[in-house]
Order: sequence, then structure tokens, then C-alpha cells
Amino acid sequence: MGYNNMILILSPDVDVNSQDYQKLIAYLEKLPQVKFRTHQEIGNQQTLTEIYLIGDTAILPLDDMKQLPCVERVVRISEEYRILGRHKDDHRSTHFEYNGVRFGQDNLNVFAGLCAVDNPQHVEQMMQALQSHGQVCTRMGAYKPRTNPYSFQGHGKECLPYVFELAGKYGIKVIAMEVTHESHVAEIHAALEQTGNPTGVMLQIGTRNTQNFELLKSVGRQTQFPVLLKRGFGITLEESLNAAEYLASEGNTRVIFGLRGMKTNMADPHRNFVDFAHVPVVKRLTRMPVCIDPSHSVGTRERGSDNILDVMHVTAQGIIAGANMVLVDFHPAPDKALVDGPQALTMAELPYFLEDVAIAEQAYKDRLQLVKKYASTF
Ligand code: PEP
Ligand code: MN
Repeated sequence: MGYNNMILILSPDVDVNSQDYQKLIAYLEKLPQVKFRTHQEIGNQQTLTEIYLIGDTAILPLDDMKQLPCVERVVRISEEYRILGRHKDDHRSTHFEYNGVRFGQDNLNVFAGLCAVDNPQHVEQMMQALQSHGQVCTRMGAYKPRTNPYSFQGHGKECLPYVFELAGKYGIKVIAMEVTHESHVAEIHAALEQTGNPTGVMLQIGTRNTQNFELLKSVGRQTQFPVLLKRGFGITLEESLNAAEYLASEGNTRVIFGLRGMKTNMADPHRNFVDFAHVPVVKRLTRMPVCIDPSHSVGTRERGSDNILDVMHVTAQGIIAGANMVLVDFHPAPDKALVDGPQALTMAELPYFLEDVAIAEQAYKDRLQLVKKYASTF
């Protein structure tokens, strides 16, 4: 793997109309065999500008590049995961904020909610329960990719206004919602505007669309909504991480990577083979927060001989390994759910689930202390 690329990290709030900036650009334009691309990240406090140099950068001395006007830091990067990856001496951030909620490699958010929106009553019962247990995030499927064309496909844009209004009513800040076509992004945007932006949305790209490159590009071109990208259920981890990089290469770097199990009959009797051992791997290779989806991994409400649901066992396994987000199916009446009822947890199980999550989270924090204590031994 060659380190053929380079990132110039400019001083915060650099003025692109300034003489210094123009000088920098003029210099870069003259570099032989090097192309560049500017990326701006507009934050609450400051705007960060990064310039990606691609091509024959190996011959450019780091020290010379550091001396260029407006340049604060220079990082050499590998071919892989240029933007979202972690590179040597790369101190770029591993978190972002959206609608007042922090998403990082060092914290945890639970997104409990409906796999598919069916009616306003169930949405309201779900959100009310979330609020009463201090939750500000949820999942609500409006566009459902289904195996069978005759199965319920989701209510689509018709349900968005009441979903968003109810979210506002119950203090929900972020709704994870799958989109399967770029037109869905415009529909979500329009419904948010129409209802006065009562909540935020994290666009979800499902496992069936992990390598739908045109969808990735269009979702990557917008920066209004962060994105949860699910790994592909039948491709390598590397291929799925490259899919995430598509989003970033188009401009959207607010990406969370979702593990949801792999499709193989070796997973039987679970729906998918649980892949949460990849939590630390993704956090090592990239700067993305990592989400686990225990519901679509396990796919049932079976319990172990210890009486603990398999869904809750694997949730704990992911969190104790450092997962940053949990996407989990709940339903007020699972037997009436139109999609994935058999794997849904109930409202009564919500406080139990959250307490179990807290135990696993504390265990992970304890493990972080332990590794510090023994750091001198390795
Ligand atoms: C979902 O989260 O509702 C879903 C369909 O998940 P996946 O894309 O992982 O199958
Ligand atoms: Mn589902």
C-alpha cells in the first residue's frame, strides 16, 4: 500500500479570497502529476478546510508543504479510505455533532424504534416510551426494501409529516431512516420543511444498497443529513468501508458505519452471522463511529438458557467491544408489526434493555481503565 496521497489541513476559518490562499492554490496548480480537491467542513464554531492531493505526492517533502501559506498540518495518507481512514500521524476528529447530538468513536447512542412505520398510534407509543426513558434518538422506517415485491413496502412520504411532528412533540432529535432512492432524500427534506423542522434525520443506506454507487454518490453530495451506512451482507469489510468512502469523497464526512451481520447459513439459527468482532477493527481503520444492529443480526426473540434474549446478548457483546451506536427494533405490538415483528422488543422491555446497555457500557469503560493500567507491559 503506497502513501501516494497527502492532505493539507489549513488553519481554521481560512479565507478562500485571501491572497495567501490564492498563492497556495497557484502553487498547487503548478505541481506536476498532482491533482487536488478541496473539502470544507462547516462546523458550529469554525470552518475547516482540507486539501487532498492525489498523484505523485511521494516526492513532495513534508517540511516544504508545511511552509506553504495557510497550511497548518500535513498528513501523508494511504490509497485506502483517504478521507474517512485513520492514517499515520492523523489527528483528524473521530466525532461529529448533529442536531445537538454527539456521534463519536468515544460515546454511545441508542436508536430504539420501529423497523417500519405502520400507523401514528404506534409511532406515538414508541416515542412516548423513548422520552420517558430519556432517549432522544430513534429509528423509523418509511421506505422498506423488501425481498418480496408483494410485501409491505413502507408508507413512504405519506407518513413523514406525522412521524416528524410526533418526534418534535416527544423531544426526539435524530431519526435513523433508510432511503433507497435519491428522491427519498428530497421527500424527507420537504417534509421536514413543511412541519417546521421539529427533528433531525440520519439517512440510512441499507445492506442491500451498500454498493449502490449512484445512491452513495447522491447521498454523499448532500451534507444536510448525516448517514448510517450498513455493511453489505455478502461482501468483504474492505468493500463496505470503500462504500463509506464514496459518501465522503462526494463531500459528506458525517458517516457512521453499521454492522448488521453476514448472510450465511452458518449463522443458523440466527438470521445473520453476528459480526460485532469487527467493531474495534473499523474503529482502528477509520475515524467513523461504529453502529451495531443486534435485531437484524439475530432476527428472533429466542432466549438463552440463562433467560437472556439473544438480541440482548449480542448488543452487550458489541458495546463491550466499544460500539458507538445501537440500532434496535422495538414495537408496541410486535404481533401486529408489518415488518420484522418476530425480532422486535416490546415497550415493557425498553427500560430493561437500556439498563442492560448501561451495564455493558460500564464494562467497556472499565476495560479502558484496565488497558491503561497495563499499558507498560506491551
Ligand atoms: C433495517 O435496518 O431496517 C434494515 C432493513 O436493515 P439492513 O439493511 O441491515 O437489512
Ligand atoms: Mn427490519
